[in-house]
Formats: sequence, structure tokens, C-alpha cells
Amino acid sequence: MNIILLGPPGAGKGTQAKMLIDAYGIPQVSTGDMLRAAVKNQTPLGLEAKKYMDSGQLVPDEVVIGLAKDRIAQPDAAKGFMLDGFPRTVPQAEALDKVLAGMGKTIDHVISIEVASAELLGRLTGRRTCKACGQGFHVMFDPPKVEGKCDKCGGELYQRDDDNEATVSNRLKVYDAQTKPLIDYYQAKGLLRPIDGVGSIDAIFGRIKAVLG
Ligand code: AMP
Repeated sequence: MNIILLGPPGAGKGTQAKMLIDAYGIPQVSTGDMLRAAVKNQTPLGLEAKKYMDSGQLVPDEVVIGLAKDRIAQPDAAKGFMLDGFPRTVPQAEALDKVLAGMGKTIDHVISIEVASAELLGRLTGRRTCKACGQGFHVMFDPPKVEGKCDKCGGELYQRDDDNEATVSNRLKVYDAQTKPLIDYYQAKGLLRPIDGVGSIDAIFGRIKAVLG
């Protein structure tokens, strides 16, 4: 099963993707995670991408298309994959269609997680992640038992560089202008599966599973 997770920043795509990969046994392909790894390792691509990420802009299409293409071609994606944060522009979606056609594959479902924009700023600026194990928390909605420490492994929690208020409001504007048109793009292809993204993590997971079967 080949799936795209679509939705504004803060809709819970990453959280749901991590639960879905366990349930369906397919890898999560997150261009954001790949770019953050490149930034951390200070590769030339990472140093270039950081400028865009820090200001909440999108990294150029050709860069992320190359990353996604290489990842989808890996053996573990042969029986399916879950794209999280890609595509994010219509040219990326068109490039993905071409890449998949060349591999004899298609997208089965585009899960569109819907959350009102007024709620997203608070969701994003309160996010914290464990440096050691990657577990996510939220200072208001899912706080750790000990401030700044991971409940699972005791690791130190950090805030993503691009989750500060100025960058977040830019990311939301960029989403409206560049990514929202993908809703119509996939609706027209009959692939769009709208999901109410408000509620508990488990409730939203249940709604997605009901669609995927
Ligand atoms: P994410 O973790 O998906 O929220 O992505 C974090 C940042 O990485 C975004 O704000 C962009 O700067 C960059 N990024 C991730 N995926 C893409 C993509 N498909 N196209 C362009 N930029 C991306």
C-alpha cells in the first residue's frame, strides 16, 4: 500500500505516520526527517537546506524530489511506503506521479488530516522531541512527567529550530499558498481521504485505519 499523508504543519502527520508504520509494516518516508539528518551531519545538501528551513520556506523542488525518489527506490519500500511531508507543491506531486509511473506503481490513498488553522500555532510552538529516542511531547497537551526529560528513555527534550513563533507563522502561510492546492489535485484523481484531525491521537489513528482497512 502506497500512501501520502497530507496536512498542514502541526496536523499530526509525523505522529500518525509512526503509528501507521507499525500497524502496516511499511516505512515512513519523511523529507523533513531526511533534511534534518542532512543538516545535523552538515552535508552540503544540509547546509543549503538549512537556510530555507530556518525561515520556514520550502527547500527547492529538485532537492526534495531527488531525496524522495532515492528513498522510494530502496528495497524496504518495495511493498509499500508512507510519504510524510512530501509532496508539498504541485510540481512535486507531478514529479512523484512520473517517478511512480516509471516504477509501475501508483498511490492508493491520500490521507488529508484536517485541523483549523487557528489551532496549529499552539500545537507547533509547544512541540518537544527527545534528542535520544525521537519521542514527541507537547508542553500543554502531552507534557513529560519531568520537565525537559523524556518519559521513555530519560533523554533531553529539545524544540525544533523551526518551531519558534516567527518561523511557524511563515510555515503556515507557505502551506496555504503552496501545499493546499494539492487537496484539489488529489481530489480530482479520486484519491483524497479527508480525516478530522481534532481529537486524541488514538481517535485520529482509528479514523485513518477505518479508511485504509
Ligand atoms: P517537516 O518536518 O515536514 O515539517 O519539514 C520541515 C521543513 O523541511 C519544511 O518547513 C521545509 O523547509 C523542509 N521540507 C520538508 N519537506 C519538504 C518538501 N517536500 N518540499 C520542500 N521543503 C520541504
